[in-house]
Amino acid sequence: MPPTKSPDRSHPSLRTSTTKDDDRRALAGLLDELAALYREVDASFAGQTCPASTECCRFGVTGREPYVTSIELALVQRAIAARGGGRTLGRTPPPLTGHEDTSRGKRRLTTVDERVCPLLDENGRCAIYTSRPFGCRTYWCERATSPAGVDQRAINAFVRRIKDLAARHAPEGDLGRPLTRALAGAGANSGPGPRRRR
Ligand code: SF4
Repeated sequence: MPPTKSPDRSHPSLRTSTTKDDDRRALAGLLDELAALYREVDASFAGQTCPASTECCRFGVTGREPYVTSIELALVQRAIAARGGGRTLGRTPPPLTGHEDTSRGKRRLTTVDERVCPLLDENGRCAIYTSRPFGCRTYWCERATSPAGVDQRAINAFVRRIKDLAARHAPEGDLGRPLTRALAGAGANSGPGPRRRR
């Protein structure tokens, strides 16, 4: 039997696939770190209540929108892919009750007026809940309650850690973009984006 020849790593096709494998492994490592960080975030703010009204997922209602860094967007994209891709998004969620546009004859806001997050599904739930960005985990409307109050210093510390992760993912720097703009750039269903949430 002839001796087995080891693969020639200098061959361009092998170099390319090795680089892609390295990139995939590096991204998977960063996403694991982000998921672990999100678990810490959730544990830190476990005392906060959320009435699950989905008001904060309607950026035209709150006038605010979460910002996402590149690494947060990568986790969202992975979650979208895992549920079948962007074609499963953008379905109309149930209306938000109790919100009327008084400037226009008290008619109920449409989903376009509300600027509903494209990740809010037809059942009124976040389609990528376990992978939702940091801004969605730390936004509480006035109906939310917290025994200890909101620890802004803890929020700022988490933001710094996420930005450090994002800088390792996109070394040229990533200060975050409005979620809808980031999704549009990534090819998901979206609209324009207003003020930052964090
Ligand atoms: S990502 Fe999920 S939690 Fe965040 S605004 Fe969109 S639907 Fe709501």
